[in-house]
Amino acid sequence: MIVVLKKGCPQDEVSRLTHWIEHFHVSVNPIVGAETTILGLVGDTSALDKDTLMLNTWVERVMKVQEPFKLANRQMHPENTVVDINGVKVGDNKLVVMAGPCSVESEPQICEIAAEVQRQGAAILRGGAWKPRSSPYSFQGMKAQGLDLLCIAKEKTGMPIVTEITNPAHIELFEGRVDCYQVGARNMQNFELLKELGKTDTPVLLKRGFANTLEEFLMSAEYIMAGGNEQVILCERGIRTYETYTRNTLDISAVPALKRLSHLPVVVDPSHAAGIYWMVEPLAMSAIAAGADGLIIEVHNDPAHALSDGAQSLTYEHFARTMGKLRAIAGAIGRDI
Ligand code: PEP
Ligand code: MN
Repeated sequence: MIVVLKKGCPQDEVSRLTHWIEHFHVSVNPIVGAETTILGLVGDTSALDKDTLMLNTWVERVMKVQEPFKLANRQMHPENTVVDINGVKVGDNKLVVMAGPCSVESEPQICEIAAEVQRQGAAILRGGAWKPRSSPYSFQGMKAQGLDLLCIAKEKTGMPIVTEITNPAHIELFEGRVDCYQVGARNMQNFELLKELGKTDTPVLLKRGFANTLEEFLMSAEYIMAGGNEQVILCERGIRTYETYTRNTLDISAVPALKRLSHLPVVVDPSHAAGIYWMVEPLAMSAIAAGADGLIIEVHNDPAHALSDGAQSLTYEHFARTMGKLRAIAGAIGRDI
């Protein structure tokens, strides 16, 4: 439920109404705009009567939010949310490129790639330390050691880091070191993980599960936000369809749909969507053209020998060329990188 207050509603009236609503065991999220204040009501609002609310002279309008996601809903928060990843703003006019290898493999590897992607304009370093792989025989990541190496690369370059967390028990190890938690597609509905991340105040890059609807995706964001952490970035990374030519099918329509349904920033991962290096560039360009706030791209110093996802990793040269094209697209739609 959304309660729109009349222009110029005094603060003591906002507080009085908030307290009254809270008696119904409903939490109130005030959104103070330049002109009006909106109260976003979250929880079981069945005991609250629209007509009774309208009796308050400062109430302009009361609207029911039909969708099950409330905190993530744009109706509750008409302005875009800007998530701050240690100084890098995601969701602003400036587009953010997160780049790096699929997996951290060694100190020279992650440090060299970090310096190179930074030189080309990436603002955030990605790299997996815990790798959820389809086969138990595939490389599982360097785990805690990988996290240490990412921190070394962060120290050397000053780039914030985003890395995947697969287990709520690892939060203690990640907190204060990782600038943004990545929740992978396979864990999008790991609700215990989402609930624990909701208790932190570190941003979360939430990837869409490959068989999940946008509503399910936004409900997962809601899990994190309901815990108190509203720093969520949505990431479309391709879904499973009948097409086998690509690893997944990039759902480009998810970008405008998510931007319409939610105020959260949306980024696209063209690497996992395509699964093929030469398709990353056109998909990245289309994501920016469709309104994405950023990209997460896999780049490797030696894709042929990468321990994971080499087939979809860009070389430095290819990444540099892609960044050039992305700048041109960004300029054409009034944004920059
Ligand atoms: C990754 O980013 O390396 C990854 C495993 O992504 P996803 O969860 O989207 O498959
Ligand atoms: Mn990968």
